[in-house]
Amino acid sequence: MSADYHTHTPLCLHAQGTPAEFINAAIAAGLTEYGISDHAPLQKQDNSEPFDDWRMLSTQIPEYLQWITDAKKHAAKANHPINIRCGLECDWLPNCQPWINHLRTLHPWDYLIGSVHYISEKNTDPNTPWDFDNPLWLGKWAETDINQAWSLYWQAYTDMADSGLFDILAHPDLIKKFGYKPDGDLARYYEPAIDAIATSGAIIELNTAGLHKPCAEAYPDTAFLELARHAGIDLIISSDAHHPSEVARDREIATKIAKAAGYTHTTLINQRQRTYTKL
Ligand SMILES: [Zn+2]
Ligand SMILES: [Zn+2]
Repeated sequence: MSADYHTHTPLCLHAQGTPAEFINAAIAAGLTEYGISDHAPLQKQDNSEPFDDWRMLSTQIPEYLQWITDAKKHAAKANHPINIRCGLECDWLPNCQPWINHLRTLHPWDYLIGSVHYISEKNTDPNTPWDFDNPLWLGKWAETDINQAWSLYWQAYTDMADSGLFDILAHPDLIKKFGYKPDGDLARYYEPAIDAIATSGAIIELNTAGLHKPCAEAYPDTAFLELARHAGIDLIISSDAHHPSEVARDREIATKIAKAAGYTHTTLINQRQRTYTKL
């Protein structure tokens, strides 16, 4: 059994491919489980949309569910058995809990993924958080206090884990995407998050997209993954594919990284119920 649960659709405005193209890629990669988890809708403080330009609108949920239905139809016609799972990649923002609970009610999702893509800087308007991983703001990173950005990120990640709202927590150290890291042992940032994740029971992902970004490493790094393994945290391996050519990308590299950190199994999830499969 082999799964990729973190993949996107063109509804987020920065992914390309048809349901058939994504499913064909999943089958070609030998996957037996393919999960769709596009960027969930989000509203501004005044309940208006769009929140930003890299996600579907609330009014597009029916279109998203149709996309998943089309993927399921295509998978059913294939000669290779593959299960299609459906979820959403949701953003963690201050006071987002009612919105996440609302998203949860929209469909019997197999899982919800929680992600920190936004941090709110101290001394700035908390209503205008920074999507620090957006390449548009790369220039801003050069003038940013890296220690402060990392502190804000890991506090948000820990709060997200504490909320218990998500089945899977995405790309744990995404804050390193453009290669900006504090000096020294990073365990001081990781340990509170590891404690919160272990207590909440959420699954983390080993996300291979980072291998293709300036940081040139999977998310999370080996040190984080070893701490997660020791804390008994469940793991999935995902590609975060935004194009059919990225489905299950670098799976062998990720398997090696996971085994080196001591993992022997990854997690399968269906209607929020977990089973395990050998790495
Ligand atoms: Zn993400
Ligand atoms: Zn994603």
